[in-house]
Amino acid sequence: MRVSQLLTKTLREVPAEADTISHQLLLRAGMVQQVATGVYAYLPLGWRSLRKLEQIVREEFDRIGGQELMMPALQPQELWEKSGRFEAFGQNLFSVTDRRERHMVLGPTHEEVTTELVRRQVRSYRDLPQLLYQIQTKFRDEPRPRGGLLRVREFDMMDLYSFDCDWEGLDVSYQKVKQAYQKIYDRCGLPTMIVEADSGAIGGKDSQEFMAITETGEDQVIHCGSCKYAANLEKAQSVKPKVPHQSPLPLEEVSTPGMKSIEEVSGFLKIPKSQTLKAVFYAADGRLVFVAIRGDLEVNEIKLKNALKCTELRLATEGEVTGAGLVAGSASPLGLSGIKTVADDSVTEGINFVAGANRPDFHMKNVNYPRDFKVDLMLDIASAQPGQGCPRCGQSLSITRGIEVGHIFKLGTMFAEKLGAYFLDQNGEQKPIVMGSYGIGIGRLLATVIERNHDDKGIVWPVSLAPYHVYLCALGMDKPEVVAASEKLYADLQARGVEVLFDDRTESAGVRFNDADLLGLPLRVVVSQRTLKSQSAELKWRSKGESQTLALEGLAEKIAVMLK
Ligand SMILES: [Zn+2]
Repeated sequence: MRVSQLLTKTLREVPAEADTISHQLLLRAGMVQQVATGVYAYLPLGWRSLRKLEQIVREEFDRIGGQELMMPALQPQELWEKSGRFEAFGQNLFSVTDRRERHMVLGPTHEEVTTELVRRQVRSYRDLPQLLYQIQTKFRDEPRPRGGLLRVREFDMMDLYSFDCDWEGLDVSYQKVKQAYQKIYDRCGLPTMIVEADSGAIGGKDSQEFMAITETGEDQVIHCGSCKYAANLEKAQSVKPKVPHQSPLPLEEVSTPGMKSIEEVSGFLKIPKSQTLKAVFYAADGRLVFVAIRGDLEVNEIKLKNALKCTELRLATEGEVTGAGLVAGSASPLGLSGIKTVADDSVTEGINFVAGANRPDFHMKNVNYPRDFKVDLMLDIASAQPGQGCPRCGQSLSITRGIEVGHIFKLGTMFAEKLGAYFLDQNGEQKPIVMGSYGIGIGRLLATVIERNHDDKGIVWPVSLAPYHVYLCALGMDKPEVVAASEKLYADLQARGVEVLFDDRTESAGVRFNDADLLGLPLRVVVSQRTLKSQSAELKWRSKGESQTLALEGLAEKIAVMLK
């Protein structure tokens, strides 16, 4: 391809709307263009890289026995109602109504459709296991699209589904896919960390995420340096700090004029925050919920949402709290009735708490569970924090940021049971098919590779994903000998299967070298009057500082070997 004929031009300025490095570089290099909020077009260079990434995914899944197929983006809403996920996905689902008033959704994922396919194809244990995958456009009406390709509303996804006779079979399939994932990231030059994850709206029992560790990541990962425990903050557990033992004392009301927050109350009464009870009000699907947690801890809303099995969870408004006859800032679990109450299990690890008195300017001392209040649900709903103990080995936990580049789930039989996908086992008994689900956002993975592989001049592509391998730059396109030598090298490289972007423009060397660095192709080759004096060309790897001069004779062949 000749740069003079390329559709796209590079941008010198950083586009104002681009908030992450990958977004900035993808726009500046002319690889993508935004069409609507969270909706992007892949331009020729971006599409080449994306197709290479898809090919890596295909090769690795084919290697483990995956069968590629293609399912429709348009799906009957009825299937989603049957699986129970129409509610769970809520507003993230794009819905459409056809001319016959039938409701359809634009698939955000394909568990329902693939289960429906398998239900009609698989009869007996002999037809299992199956690993089915596709690379297809998905739709999710994200509330906050951001980061260019990192969080979008229409995206390419590789989704794979495993179907097995039993849980042991699922374990085998799950491990196979996990190893294939690892190979995919290795081939993309992207180190990842495997972390325990929340299953979210996909559902299922166990799930893990592959995290690329970067400062710009929107996910937070809690991990242990000792035993390698690692989990998404949404799911992470920790050993909560212990508090000194005391004997329970009788309840006592204390005056706390103007004191509302945990900081204010603990400071005023000169007690540690861990001796206070924090009260937080949420609206879960519109219903008020009272949440109690030890004052030194924070509520993890994902854990709370899972505990309440609700679709929408948000902090309650002050109006909702006072409307229920409670006093925000001095609310108390004591004497509470008619409101669902959830407590973090930290309330059992502490004694003689200070809690609200349910009237302004007063608190209660020596509140003890279960002596003084009851709860409907008691479980771990606290956010793990760095410095707390590892749930496996007790050592101190750390926190880091990452981008989720893959998510794998052990779904079990939930979809098979809801959608009626059964098979006959060896004894002729009807059993539900055991399923796993695995996804990689292709565009997001590409963006993450850039987040990890760039410098202040531009992208530094790994050979595996670069849109072209060689940036051939002819300096002096007005000189016949430069034109002749560079055209010959261009043709020779192409004849040897090397993908070349030929910069045949007449712009200054500086402009073109900047473009070469911005596009980040692995190898830059310069042919100029100066190099032709010694019948040679100058080669420079994008990832290295120094350049080298090599004879033109046999150069195309040498380059083809270097890029292998
Ligand atoms: Zn540990």
